[in-house]
Amino acid sequence: MARLSSWKQSASYGLKRRLWLIFFTMTTTFVGLIILLNVETQFRLIDQRTDLRAQHLADIVAEVSIPKFAGRAENDLSAFFEELYEQDDINNIYIVGPRGRLIIAGNEEAARASMANNAFIAEAFATRQTVRSTGDGEISVATPLMHFGEPIGAIFLELCQKSLNGEVRTVWQTNLWAGLIFIIVGSWLANLLARHLTGPLTDLTVATKRAANGDLDQVLDIRSNDELEELSSSFNTMLQTIRTSMSEIHRVAYEDKLTGIPNRGWLNMHLEKLARQADHPEFAVMFLDLDRFKLVNDTHGHHIGDLLLREFADRLRSCMADLGLKQRVVGSNDMAQIDLAADEAILARLGGDEFTLVVPADRAERLAERIIAALDKPVVLDGRRLTASTSIGIALCPAHANCREDLLKAADIAMYQAKSAGRRTYAFYDHSNFAQLQANLDLEQDLTRAIHEDEFDLYLQPQFDLSSDRVIGAEALIRWQHPVRGLIAPGEFLLVAAAAGLMPIIGQIMLRKTIQATARINARRKDPLTLAVNIAIEELDQEGFADAVARMLKFYGASADALEIEITEGTAMEENARVVQQVAMLRALGIRLAIDDFGMGYSNLSRLKELAFETLKIDRSLVEGVGDDDAADSLFLTIIELAEAIDARVVAEGVETAEQREFLRGTNCHSYQGYLGGRPIPADRFEDWISENGVIDYAAQSDAA
Ligand code: C2E
Ligand code: CA
Ligand code: CA
Repeated sequence: MARLSSWKQSASYGLKRRLWLIFFTMTTTFVGLIILLNVETQFRLIDQRTDLRAQHLADIVAEVSIPKFAGRAENDLSAFFEELYEQDDINNIYIVGPRGRLIIAGNEEAARASMANNAFIAEAFATRQTVRSTGDGEISVATPLMHFGEPIGAIFLELCQKSLNGEVRTVWQTNLWAGLIFIIVGSWLANLLARHLTGPLTDLTVATKRAANGDLDQVLDIRSNDELEELSSSFNTMLQTIRTSMSEIHRVAYEDKLTGIPNRGWLNMHLEKLARQADHPEFAVMFLDLDRFKLVNDTHGHHIGDLLLREFADRLRSCMADLGLKQRVVGSNDMAQIDLAADEAILARLGGDEFTLVVPADRAERLAERIIAALDKPVVLDGRRLTASTSIGIALCPAHANCREDLLKAADIAMYQAKSAGRRTYAFYDHSNFAQLQANLDLEQDLTRAIHEDEFDLYLQPQFDLSSDRVIGAEALIRWQHPVRGLIAPGEFLLVAAAAGLMPIIGQIMLRKTIQATARINARRKDPLTLAVNIAIEELDQEGFADAVARMLKFYGASADALEIEITEGTAMEENARVVQQVAMLRALGIRLAIDDFGMGYSNLSRLKELAFETLKIDRSLVEGVGDDDAADSLFLTIIELAEAIDARVVAEGVETAEQREFLRGTNCHSYQGYLGGRPIPADRFEDWISENGVIDYAAQSDAA
């Protein structure tokens, strides 16, 4: 590009110089010719004049002298001759008689010197005609004086041309001055003309160079009424076309197709410049993420998911408008403006359900509150009524970070803080949480990989009947077989998984493995073992959850009553219609229901009764002190009474000592689970474990016999 523009430049300047040279050469040649012609003419004229003067003088002298020689006049000619001799251009003047005698002279001495070798006079006498010669700066003329046809003498005249040379010099000088002035004025005119001719070309060259450097907004105004004007108007049309296609390309490259708002690339470009700007006013980067969006996609399909994202973008736009914030639009010349105006915002979709807003710092909090409130209004998409919520993280520039990457990261971390604070809220970036959140972010990425690599294993912890000490079932527990960190217990990752919205997927994996294990373990048993699986609220909050469980039972050939789902006390108390509906559907399938971690929350008794569940699992914290602490004993007994009142089977959790078990045997507690009976073991070793540990399955034994 640089080469091209320099070529154009030299072309234009070269043309100008060449035109100028042509004009200059033509002018000087013309002037030179004129001067030469003029000088030649002048010379000819001078020659003619000298000739004429010589002739004329000779005639006058003859006229004056003849009467005297003829004897008709008495005048004294010597004074007349002397006077003539005094003339500047006359070197010699005298009259010679027929016999070569000097008759009269302007200066006798000079005359005699000249006569010594003067062939002219003899020739003039002989030819009876005027004889003349030019040479050595002199013109010599000899004229016979005729009287009645006979020569009575001859006049000799010698004219010098020196004074005539002076005249010639004057002529030369005048001509040179005139020529010089002519050349100066001519050159100036030539230059003017050349500039006039090449000026538009230079304008065109400069404009092309500027266009090549990115200035596409210029308009070239050349009115030369010729091809150059046409060229300039074509140039303008070309720029207009480029501008139009540039803005189209820009739109295609920087607009998010789904929502019509700018995309990540555009945001990056603007945020980068904005953050780099020195002394910019404080601004906020807001990171928005729809809560449980994946669930919407999984349950309602991507079409509804897309519609929801579009609706989200619309609501974000109207929230901005409510606060008088104008969106920076995707145009061809975006970067012309860098600073964020006080009433300006940059809204962009980063991808998926992640959106970003860049706004003046003092607007961020109000905007966040408004957006959260705006999402509370349900939306009907393709006939489906949905409610969405968003978690918003806010990072301030320069208070929290001062470059694009860090700002987005800080806002992202703040968004996680908002999610952990229970979603549907906003949080400002807090550096003290950084390390933990960073670890959680890493963990989340790891979890996603673990899902794809099938790194989750099913472990089973046996449950025992208190009176017979027989294994009556097991609880399914998740373990993560991490390729680097080894075996990881659920306490270390389930919270992060929940915050990342991964619970439904992980739950699905565990359900499948549990149901498969149920079918396998019970295949040869007369008295089937019940496998209890933990179900998170996020799983129950899905439209098709119970149906999926039914399909899995059918697929693996497992019996519904050998499966128990454990929901926490908190989930059991949930008012969410969908959760209630899914639990009811699971019950209708014949699946048993256990209330997990009982004693940890505040249960509504009538609600508990309504659920008509089979099992109540008393939390480990309530079992811990039994057997040697009276207060713990009486609290435990109270809970057992309560369970009897609602007709539930009781499982004591976390039984670690024989004392605890002894105490439990004296109560109406039916079964227990804990390290005393057995730790959670890999599901594929569970059957071996049962036989190895001598816990007898009488039915299986009689079968084998
Ligand atoms: P939980 O449902 O209360 O499960 C019982 C937990 O107590 C298990 O911890 C188990 O290893 C532990 N435990 C059993 N007996 C004893 C004992 O005698 N002493 C002590 N100190 N602990 C005992 P784990 O496996 O680490 O699981 C922790 C929690 O993670 C579970 O608590 C459950 O809420 C959750 N979880 C585990 N697997 C899953 C799963 O597949 N899905 C869901 N949604 N949650 C799961
Ligand atoms: Ca449990
Ligand atoms: Ca429990």
